Amino acid sequence: MKTYQDMNHEELVSLHTQLLEQYNCMKALNLNLNMARGKPDFEQTELSLPILDVINSHYDFGDKIAYCNYGILDGIDEAKDFFAKMLDTNPQNMIIYGNSSLTIMFDQISRGYTHGYLGNTPWCKLPKVKFLCPVPGYDRHFAITEHFGIEMINIPLYEDGPDMDMIEEYVNHDESVKGIWCVPQYSNPTGTTYSDEVVKRFAQLKPAASDFRIFWDNAYIVHHLYDEHPQVLNILSECEKAGHPDLVFEFCSTSKVTLPGAGVAALATSLANKEDILKHMSVQCIGYDKINQLRHVEYFQKIESLDEHMKKQAALLRPKFETVLDIFEKELSGLNIGKWTKPRGGYFITFEAMDNCAKDIIQKCKEAGTLLTNAGATYPYGKDPRDATIRIAPSYPTLNELKKATKLFVLCVKLVSIEKLLVNKKMI
Ligand code: PLP
Repeated sequence: MKTYQDMNHEELVSLHTQLLEQYNCMKALNLNLNMARGKPDFEQTELSLPILDVINSHYDFGDKIAYCNYGILDGIDEAKDFFAKMLDTNPQNMIIYGNSSLTIMFDQISRGYTHGYLGNTPWCKLPKVKFLCPVPGYDRHFAITEHFGIEMINIPLYEDGPDMDMIEEYVNHDESVKGIWCVPQYSNPTGTTYSDEVVKRFAQLKPAASDFRIFWDNAYIVHHLYDEHPQVLNILSECEKAGHPDLVFEFCSTSKVTLPGAGVAALATSLANKEDILKHMSVQCIGYDKINQLRHVEYFQKIESLDEHMKKQAALLRPKFETVLDIFEKELSGLNIGKWTKPRGGYFITFEAMDNCAKDIIQKCKEAGTLLTNAGATYPYGKDPRDATIRIAPSYPTLNELKKATKLFVLCVKLVSIEKLLVNKKMI
């Protein structure tokens, strides 16, 4: 099979004509599909609806009647136990919140900005504050740091984690670098899982700033697509071993375990950080939704049921990932017009198009009725320097819709790539 680069002008033009015909046929179908956001589909959320029956007006609260009232700021003990098992840490290091881990992350940045961590100068009083951002990454992380006017620095993300040489250089020498966003397991959007060596190097950082923190967003810690799966080394215990217990804020939630918007979110950190956070939280809140915390614990009972539950989620999600990957393999391999990740878990596949093609591919898909995440969204300030990265979210459409959307996507990749090649070779 010839790569597109090996084709001559006539071959490219004739292929373009054929593909354009197919594209126009698909356009005529008036599709209305969405592969833009990583939302579970209805069947996935349906798996968790029985959780709503666990606590009702007949529930015997017994000695837990305090859960019906204000208070218990750091969460109920049962939930601390449950989330500590999920994160493989100690219950005393946990704070259990409301429904969203993103809100906790926002609050943590906000506290650094207005009050400072553990007595450090609030960032708003400093001339410059910087954050490191492994890319491609999660757009909502970048939106938070941008919201606070924090300068974001791109760090390349490789197959085993971010570029640690670059991170060490910045963190260990630049006092204005105050944090880094990390999604260590099945990263959004590449599906990358950090290797043990990467986690150890994180723990051994010697930050120039005493208030530098690793924002370790373990959003996909239990979201394996396959029984055989990688497990990220425990960052909290690695940091403790390395003598830097306060270096990390670790976040997680059950948004994509049970019900997005009605799940439970949690943070794990050192006891010193926890005390500092609770001081601020006590001004902000009297206590989170302990009934929902209890509902989750009662529903799962033990951590093993969570594994069973996630296997059911995987059984729904896996065919969707495999559908996209099979179509990519069949339609695109050997053409040299794109690369894609093959995640073992999480919610996303990353497609890397030829340079300067992502925006046009996404626009072409949109014109034919299929929405993808905006080009550039996976980079700070919405700027993908190569305009090449496209985030694919296979979870929400039905399998049938997904097949159509992926076939359309592949057509758009081919069309745009040919158009760029013709322009680059000045063949038009
Ligand atoms: N973190 C990552 C990496 C995500 O991909 C998402 C959602 O897509 C979130 C956090 C949102 O988490 P939550 O629903 O707990 O706010």
